[in-house]
Amino acid sequence: MAASAHIPEFARTPHPAPCPADARAAILANPGFGTTFTDHMVEVDYDADRGWHSARVVPYGPIALDPAAAVLHYAQEIFEGMKAYRLADGGIALFRPYANAARFNASAQRLAMPELPQDLFVEAVRQQVAADSAWFPTVEGGSIYLRPFMFASEAFLGVRPSRSYKFMVIASPAGNYFKSGAPAVSIWVSQYTRAAPGGTGEAKCGGNYAASLVPTAEAFARGHDQVLFLDAAEHRWVEELGGMNLFFVMADGAIVTPPLGGTILPGITRDSLIALARDEGLTVREDRYALDQWRADAASGALIETFACGTAAVVTPVGKVADASGEFVIGSGGPGQLTQKLRQRLVSIQRGEAADPHGWVHRVA
Ligand SMILES: *Cc1c(COP(=O)(O)O)cnc(C)c1O
Repeated sequence: MAASAHIPEFARTPHPAPCPADARAAILANPGFGTTFTDHMVEVDYDADRGWHSARVVPYGPIALDPAAAVLHYAQEIFEGMKAYRLADGGIALFRPYANAARFNASAQRLAMPELPQDLFVEAVRQQVAADSAWFPTVEGGSIYLRPFMFASEAFLGVRPSRSYKFMVIASPAGNYFKSGAPAVSIWVSQYTRAAPGGTGEAKCGGNYAASLVPTAEAFARGHDQVLFLDAAEHRWVEELGGMNLFFVMADGAIVTPPLGGTILPGITRDSLIALARDEGLTVREDRYALDQWRADAASGALIETFACGTAAVVTPVGKVADASGEFVIGSGGPGQLTQKLRQRLVSIQRGEAADPHGWVHRVA
């Protein structure tokens, strides 16, 4: 792919001592999630005078940061999460990378950070994948998880937007969360809130995650797998999990998902599943759904499935929901049929095994 006029040349410094092949093979046979990183990383710098500059692929390793760097004090940081997939024909593809680029810029605006040209974002990710394409897991369903991020690097303790930033991409081999028939998870409805109207809920910023750690730890301590957040104003409407959007499947065939409105992260998996469900002729409504209604519908049988979705785990069935007043079971408590069907539809497009009617698959090799 030739660099367009807007995309700078990336300088490339190969790792002088990359991970030995046998050690890499051991990692790739059992990659887990987010614990090992590939040999290289991408860096691009920004300052107010020069704009984005010095794009480069360098050996993976620690970076030097001034202790006064604004990110360490006021959390001016945003990120993305995406994957590179091995296609059925042996090629490599990203999934809707321009959607990640657009969301990254929306997050940047909310955090008073400079936008990154979308072509530069996608080219940086492509460079990262090209540098470390030897890092595809050998396990079935494996992928390379990509983490683009940007942070404020100016050494300054006054409270105002930083004048310098660093954009980076790192990569981590990822196993298949669930080989087939993902197990249903149990979720805890938190008294804490994740996002308030006017806050940063629709931005993908590290600060949102920092605030979700205590509620998540509480869910774990009570024996649940995930935390669910209700709306901050009425503590009544279901919003999302700590890092995944939610869908409800009704017995009449309709699907409901909470509407985006400032407090919910606009998931690309969410958007893709809405489109795929509509392709199937299903009715998808972006409507508010109350916890009490959910409980009542699960009991009456009006609701038959619930699932969560996001890039990392794709689609995760929800089997049980608990709060301080007790718990209720969804359907049989196991993975639902439509949940599994939609998951399979999405995964087979991502891996080039099924037609791609929406043009989502972005081949890079
Ligand atoms: C990233 C994220 C999601 C899922 O977004 P995808 O684009 O589908 O990966 C959902 N909720 C939150 C809070 C997130 O940070």
